[in-house]
Amino acid sequence: MRLEIQELGKLQVMRDITSVFAHEIRNPMQVSRGFLQLLNDPDLSDKKKRYIELSIEELDRADEIISDLLIFAKPSNNRMNRIDIGAELNRVLNITKAYSISLNVEMKYHISNDCWAYANPQKLRQCLINILKNAIESMPNGGYVWVTCIRTGDGNIEIIIQDEGIGMSKEQVDRLGTPFYSLKENGTGLGMMVSYQIIRSFKGQIKVTSEKEEGTAFCILLPIVR
Ligand code: ADP
Ligand code: MG
Repeated sequence: MRLEIQELGKLQVMRDITSVFAHEIRNPMQVSRGFLQLLNDPDLSDKKKRYIELSIEELDRADEIISDLLIFAKPSNNRMNRIDIGAELNRVLNITKAYSISLNVEMKYHISNDCWAYANPQKLRQCLINILKNAIESMPNGGYVWVTCIRTGDGNIEIIIQDEGIGMSKEQVDRLGTPFYSLKENGTGLGMMVSYQIIRSFKGQIKVTSEKEEGTAFCILLPIVR
């Protein structure tokens, strides 16, 4: 309990700092990026060109981290509507398609009609994209991701996103959603934290089952609205 309060305090501080500074940091970064691009003259030596490219890549990476942080910091608009979850899933599958193809991953899906729940569409999309991206990234040699969306007998919409990737140990599953927990070289460790918060704000649940070297299934439950 005590730990939980400490964690919440830390999160609040992080939120405040992030929202105050993110934009201020971003502007000078964009300016530097612009000048670096101007410096990148075709006559430069390959070595110098490479240094400039590396600097731009690092700035882009910093920008990505700020984006992840901002999503989590901004309460933004938290308007909840009655949402067609299947339609949102289809949108998100379209958005992530190019990414999955680039990693040799094929997405298969079965989405039932008439799956309505209360949600904020932007946040729902953000959460689904985070989970889908992780599923895709879990398969370094390609494979399938299965996405299903159905109405359960007990009043929920059930979205399952299943991969056949590297999987997680029980300890790893338990750490999911804690800030900055990432096993990826270029991970931010913020995607799951944001996703858990989002589903909680919809009064839903996320359940994870995973087996090392076998794969992972994320199951999201949201209360049905008629
Ligand atoms: P990031 O993707 O930036 O590392 P996330 O918060 O999205 O951060 O995920 C945290 C960690 O959880 C990942 O680094 C990865 O180790 C693990 N993870 C999440 N989803 C999966 C998955 N589908 N399969 C295997 N590991 C996963
Ligand atoms: Mg991620």
